[in-house]
Amino acid sequence: MGTVTALRVAGDMIQLWDETYWTVDEWVDGLPAWEWGHAPRGLATRSQLRDLPQPKSIGPQDPYGLLVFRHRKAARRREIAQLYRIDLARDRRAVTPAVLASVEKAMLARRTCRRCGQVQPRCVSTLTRTCWPCMEITGDFGQREQHAA
Ligand SMILES: [Zn+2]
Repeated sequence: MGTVTALRVAGDMIQLWDETYWTVDEWVDGLPAWEWGHAPRGLATRSQLRDLPQPKSIGPQDPYGLLVFRHRKAARRREIAQLYRIDLARDRRAVTPAVLASVEKAMLARRTCRRCGQVQPRCVSTLTRTCWPCMEITGDFGQREQHAA
């Protein structure tokens, strides 16, 4: 886990990872914070990373800084999002149709009663793998087997 901390040069000035200098709007919990439009290029929030043409996830990095949103509505005056370095972000693994199909198949299996074969709207019992009507018919509710004396 590489903790990347902004290098504080003086007061509100930091030196970025590319050795350029940048002014910080404020410090929040030891992290440089900027208002919308003030943050240095190369930083993005989690959702911005996800929305890139080549979607990325944050990867093994700690937030580099914070983005401060100010709302007009009093109830949500101030919202803070964590900013991450795009150059350290990782490519998101694309969800291939094959992966999707296997997930759907697994979900379907968990909803299918092994006795009557009907697909139920919810997952069937993990103990019996049967639906409720079948459990009532068989009397098997997943209780421990009674050993005959
Ligand atoms: Zn059934």
